[in-house]
Order: sequence, then C-alpha cells, then structure tokens
Amino acid sequence: MKFYSTNKKSAPVSLPYAVLKGLADDGGLYMPERIPVLDDRFFSHLSQKSLHEISLTVASAFLENDVPSDILDELIKETMNFDIPLVQIEENIFVLELFHGPTMAFKDVGARFMSRLMAWLQRDNPRRLKVVVATSGDTGSAVAAGFFNVPGIDVYVLFPKGKVSPLQQKQITTWGGNIQAIEIDGTFDDCQKLAKEVLGDRELNDAFLITSANSINIARLIPQSFYYFWAAAQLPERNKPLVFSVPSGNFGNLTAGLLAGVMGLKTERYIAATNVNDVVPIYCKTGEYSPKPSVQTISNAMDVGNPSNYARMMDIFGDSHPEFCQSIYSISFSDDETRNAVQSVLSEKNYLMDPHGAVAYLGSKEYLKNVNPGANIVFLETAHPAKFPETLRIVMDKDNTLPEQLRLVNEKEEKFTSLSNDFSKLKRFLAEK
Ligand SMILES: *Cc1c(COP(=O)(O)O)cnc(C)c1O
Repeated sequence: MKFYSTNKKSAPVSLPYAVLKGLADDGGLYMPERIPVLDDRFFSHLSQKSLHEISLTVASAFLENDVPSDILDELIKETMNFDIPLVQIEENIFVLELFHGPTMAFKDVGARFMSRLMAWLQRDNPRRLKVVVATSGDTGSAVAAGFFNVPGIDVYVLFPKGKVSPLQQKQITTWGGNIQAIEIDGTFDDCQKLAKEVLGDRELNDAFLITSANSINIARLIPQSFYYFWAAAQLPERNKPLVFSVPSGNFGNLTAGLLAGVMGLKTERYIAATNVNDVVPIYCKTGEYSPKPSVQTISNAMDVGNPSNYARMMDIFGDSHPEFCQSIYSISFSDDETRNAVQSVLSEKNYLMDPHGAVAYLGSKEYLKNVNPGANIVFLETAHPAKFPETLRIVMDKDNTLPEQLRLVNEKEEKFTSLSNDFSKLKRFLAEK
C-alpha cells in the first residue's frame, strides 16, 4: 500500500518511506491511499475475538503487502501485551481503560508498534537510526519505553526544563541504554522547534539516519484503531447505537477511531471532547478553523492550539464541514468542570478518572442529555489517574498508593543532559553521541 500526503503536493510513497520519514516533504501528513473495509464475518464474530486477533486483522489490512504475517504477528504480540478492559460505570456509559501499559498512558500502543515497525523496516541497514522526539510529558516516556533496547536505534527525548511533572521526568530520564534524555532550557514549543530543525538539517541527515517519533507518524495512527474494535467486542450488548467519546489534543486518537469507522465499525457518532483549547469545537459550531496559542490546563496532554491531525480529519471528510459535524460532536470543558467530574464520579460511582478521561466522560454526559439518551457510550481513559498531581491530591487522603510501575520508576536515578535552547549545541551533542 502507498501513502499520500494530505497536502497532495508530494508523490505517494512506500510504507518504509512514510514511517521512517514521518512528515511528507510538502509538510502534509501521510494517509493510506485506500482505507480497507473489513468483511461482515469479522464483525459478526467480533465478540469471540481476542485483542490480538482483532489487532492482527486490522494491521494486516493495511500492511500485508509490506510486512510478512509472521513478523506482524510478533510485532502485535510485543505491542498489545497489556490489558485494555472495558468497564461500565453507569447506565449507557462505559470506560475503555487504555492505561495498563508500561508508562500507563494510551500512547504506549502507538509508540510500541511504531518502534518495532521502524526496527524491522531498517533491519538490514548497517547505520543506526536516530529517533528524536519532543515531549510535554507523556509522549517522551511512551516512546522511550517503546524503543528501549530495540537494536539499531538510539532515541533522544527533548523535554522542557521544569515543565514536566516530577513523575513524568522520572519516566523520561531513568532508562539509560539507547535512550538519551535531554533537558532543554525552554518551553515545549522550543523543544518541538529544535526537533524540527534536527530533521531539516542537511549535515545531520547526511551523516545519520534521523527520524521523528512525534504523533504525526502513520505508524502510531494505525495501531490506535485496534482498540475501537476491541471496545465494541467487549460490549455486553451491541444493539444500541455506539458512540465513542475521545479526549482530544492533536486528534490522533480520534482520527484512528474514524479509520475504524471507515473500516466498517458501526458507530452513531464520535464525541471530540476537549479542554478550553477548543479550536475544533469552535470549528464545529462556526465552520471557521482558527488555530491559536495553547492554554495550560489540568488535562495538559490536550493543551494543543493547532491540532496536527485536523489535516487528516479534513481529508477523511473531503473538506466538508457538514460531513465533519455529522460524524463528530465536539464540545469543550473547563478545568473546574473537569475537577468536579473527577470528584463526583469518585464519590458517586467509586471510580477514579484522570483529568483527560474526565473530559471525555463529560462529553458523554452532554451527548446523552442533548443528542441521544439511548446511545451506548464508550469513553477513552487515556492515562492512569495517578500520573496527574491534580488527581493525586484527590486520592492522597483516600488511598495513598502509586501503582507498581510508577512506584518503581520513582525510586530510580535520573540521568540527563542539560542544554540551552540552542540548535548548534544540540547538533554537536547528536553528532558526538
Ligand atoms: C496525548 C494524550 C491525549 C490526546 O491525544 P491526541 O491523540 O493527541 O488527541 C489525551 N490524553 C492523554 C493522557 C494523552 O497523553
């Protein structure tokens, strides 16, 4: 299968090119030239299938001509090696817990799949691959965990000094081996800018194989569609209209859900739930898409003012605002509303949500109230609540325990390099290491 750029200026490329390159030369995002539709048999037997079987079927539909089936099978075993349970928390509302992976965020799914795929795609290349990633918190650790000890690949995680939580910093800086953590004296935007400069630098690219692991990569998108089918497979009854509520920032997760829909998964609609960074809800309401600087919130992984996957969504909907709105119900919530939701669901349903999941929960409630009270809503819980200081404070006086993964990382010793916000310094560092 070939992959085209959403800007349609660069020519379509092969899978290895799209994955190892990340972003198209014309600045667009890669999309599969054909979104495969799965056959009826797959859907009629969905509830008997395992997560592994579902993932393999979906992945094969995209990759069967590029990756041999035994390799794909192994790749999926190593990616989907944690539970993704569906839990009912009230009538018509279910939560899909995507946080049981090594770094306790849903980004583990995309990052693990991408790392193994990259390693396989460049297996015969004697040159090592340098993967550069900028992070505001969760991406860096998921990518580090995904690539840790993967042969032939070195990873450089750029994180902004003093702007990630202490626990997130531990998750980035305690790997060692092929993972280098680099603290940049600047903001997340500075880190992202530096990462882009690395990718665009002629000398570095002549000397090394360099790529990005940020969320634009098509190899992170495809595996994220697996768990939409898996959620449907786990529903106790599948007669009610199905709606997914997705806490959204760069909209990669939601776009993966749209792919699942095009592949044949029957859904009534998708809820794009955001915090006050609400360019997409405003687009839905007005038809105007106006990116703006991001605002800091307690659901910080969704603090995005210009969502990168907007381009992919518009591509799927043929740039049609009515089609977009028919498929997507978009709504934003404030931090106060989010905090209240975390508190009330904890006290009334004894279920603890993280701030991102809570935004999606709020979206579910609005949908049941305003659109269809008879829908079955699955909202995506994208991170373990214990990762967020805001939620931690709520639990601390209740049940003061960190999950095992986070407790272990908390005890490890940090190792990182500190650099000023200066491309020439970073370039020298990359050239030496
Ligand atoms: C990255 C992230 C999101 C947003 O996902 P997108 O695919 O960028 O929309 C939501 N929640 C958490 C916890 C995340 O880390």
